[in-house]
Amino acid sequence: MLFKALEVSENSDKTYTSALVTKSVDDLPPGEVLIKVQYSSLNYKDALSSIGNKGVTRNYPHTPGIDAAGIVEKSADPHFNRGDKVVVTGYDLGMNTSGGFAEYIRVPASWPIHLPHGLSRKRSMMYGTAGFTAALSIYHLKKQGITPPSGKIIVTGATGGVGSLAVAILSHLGFHVTAVTGKEELVDLLMELGAKEVIPRDALNDLSGRPLLKSQYAAAIDTVGGNILATVLKSLQYGGVATCCGLVNSPELHTTVYPFILKGISLIGVDSVLCNRALRKEIWEHLGTDWRPAKMDKLINSCTLDTVQTYLDLMLKGQGAGRYLVRVSP
Ligand code: NDP
Repeated sequence: MLFKALEVSENSDKTYTSALVTKSVDDLPPGEVLIKVQYSSLNYKDALSSIGNKGVTRNYPHTPGIDAAGIVEKSADPHFNRGDKVVVTGYDLGMNTSGGFAEYIRVPASWPIHLPHGLSRKRSMMYGTAGFTAALSIYHLKKQGITPPSGKIIVTGATGGVGSLAVAILSHLGFHVTAVTGKEELVDLLMELGAKEVIPRDALNDLSGRPLLKSQYAAAIDTVGGNILATVLKSLQYGGVATCCGLVNSPELHTTVYPFILKGISLIGVDSVLCNRALRKEIWEHLGTDWRPAKMDKLINSCTLDTVQTYLDLMLKGQGAGRYLVRVSP
């Protein structure tokens, strides 16, 4: 059986080119579950894979796409039957395993989960890994006892995939959200999503050398790392909690122990890739029900396999906004 896929190839001069190609299901890696992909979505990791980042993808040619939602076509595992509606995010999908920017994927049976009630395939990919990660970050804050009366929650990289959904879900859950963005022109969008205030990214780049700053936030969802995260940590209230998941500002974190030992703050790392299956299902259930933000549609841009690369390039320049849904097949 033949199908369409976006394929990234390595050129002899170490540049990378993506093109739509025709592949055969026989080319797919081994696995118990063959899935007809209907929707995928764009994530920063896909952008890195598309330019040959070997930390994400070692071997080319390769089909990126760390997210996929669709229908089981064939299964050698009793937990899945032909026609089941499933979603796959994380694990090795789209990294070194042929990913969701293709009409078919084949994966181990431990990767897909059945779509929870209340979540369509399309909506699951409006969230995708970014939305899942935003929700997982919120889960960790709540687990640490952070509630709306605790105080303000600051979200960095607020117009990005993870950030925008964190703003939307937290606001929906009644939290007071402070959004941090480098895009002045999208302040209104962030306010529409429910942010109570929006502050410019430059204001979160403390270079004073002071170990502590004014205590302003009960919690933080950081998606960018670097000195922005270091500044956020210094600005947490006593007992504050921050999650970190990303590195678009920098993978480095230079800080001191003072916020930890004088204010009792916590920093929690968030990983959506190997998150255990029970928690994975719980998070998707939340996204389909009580954590589903009303204003999410404002965040969604749509594209097809033909136009994916244009939007990945925007992401690499830090110019993307919201979520990009990929319509893969009918
Ligand atoms: P996006 O590209 O959608 O968004 C990133 C946002 O960060 C941008 O929209 C921009 O928002 C801000 N930004 C861009 N460049 C810079 C910069 N130089 N300094 C500071 N801020 C910047 O990415 P995602 O939201 O999908 O992912 C965010 C991060 O989280 C990535 O590093 C990604 O790899 C990581 N991630 C990790 C996961 C995990 O499991 N740990 C899962 C998913 C994502 P604005 O202009 O509003 O500031």
